Amino acid sequence: MLSIKEIKIPDYEKVIEAEDRETGLDCLIAIHNTKLGPAMGGTRIQPYASKQEALEDALRLAKAMTYKSAMAENGLGGGKSVLIANPKTDKTEKLLLSFAEVVHSLKGQYIAAEDVGSTTEDMAIIRQKTPYVGALPTEKSSGDPSRFTAWGVYQGIRAVTKKLWNHDSLRKKIIAIQGLGNVGSKLANILFWEGAYLVLCDKDPTLTHAQALLYGAQVIDPKDYIEFRCDILAPCALGGIIHDQTIPKLHCKAIAGSANNQLLYSKNGGDLMKKGILYAPDYVINAGGIINAAIEFEPEGYDPKAARDKVNQIYDTLMTIFDLAEKEHKPTNQIADALAEYKLQHLIGKREYPIQFSKN
Ligand code: NAD
Repeated sequence: MLSIKEIKIPDYEKVIEAEDRETGLDCLIAIHNTKLGPAMGGTRIQPYASKQEALEDALRLAKAMTYKSAMAENGLGGGKSVLIANPKTDKTEKLLLSFAEVVHSLKGQYIAAEDVGSTTEDMAIIRQKTPYVGALPTEKSSGDPSRFTAWGVYQGIRAVTKKLWNHDSLRKKIIAIQGLGNVGSKLANILFWEGAYLVLCDKDPTLTHAQALLYGAQVIDPKDYIEFRCDILAPCALGGIIHDQTIPKLHCKAIAGSANNQLLYSKNGGDLMKKGILYAPDYVINAGGIINAAIEFEPEGYDPKAARDKVNQIYDTLMTIFDLAEKEHKPTNQIADALAEYKLQHLIGKREYPIQFSKN
């Protein structure tokens, strides 16, 4: 039987824990903030070592979604769901349908989407039991967000290049990508055609080999990634890779990639500034996916052209952040947080019309 319990967490609007022994469901949904609109955030399926670890991940990611959507002014709030399960072995239709019931119980306060461990096809299964799900592989929905995320990261890399070298061209820039999954592989493709020299690593050697052949790229061992001497590191795999132990080893001029929560602690943004490394705040540069997903909730319906045009604005947003950071001698992540908090406080970008969720 499905059991849903609320957990009180300061500064979070609602956090629930749900279990169903019959279907194997063990999940958490964290709603951080819905001041600007209903909370949207991916459904992460991972074999977390403990409930506490899963809860911490859900809380961190939900808060980042609030800031990401506030910055993108897309009329959405921040939330995240996590399922404690192995996506390769435990992900069954029964499990997803049972999770859908939990999403439905929140009556649209939280909208699910694909994330690490889940796919747009999984969202279509969830859609059978609840309308509160986006990024579906259907005509009216926004589909796979990763091509928009990759395009947004490319816009961010252009902004970094403009700030550091005062031109937009990526020709001969040495860019090292960590992770060649949904986003990293698409980013590699764009950067190749823009003239960059690519350096690639993934913990799955078959991925790196195939992509290196396509782009004449250098392949490195994942353990050498942080220390690699290059122009730009583009982390597109894991969060938490920038911290006290890794910062002294960095030999790049900028960090600009899609991974969520790249800084282990906020203060690490200041450490990067002291080292002279330009950091593109993760939730600004990787907002392409959520910007695209939000377009399907516009009254006129989903339009990829509108999504692309909005994702292109990531370039200007980052230029504003870089210029303000320079002027105020503050780390870029601190400037981004202050801008997002200002928008939340003054309800800038708040959703004007409620989302019309279709019943079928
Ligand atoms: P993915 O799971 O498709 O790809 C991740 C890749 O990273 C995999 O190929 C994996 O083998 C590799 N990897 C994992 N650990 C590694 C390591 N230690 N060293 C090298 N490679 C490693 O995920 P994705 O959808 O491409 O997302 C990548 C990152 O971007 C994630 O942090 C995700 O949260 C973030 N992100 C993704 C989107 C999106 O639209 N998919 C949007 C915003 C943020």
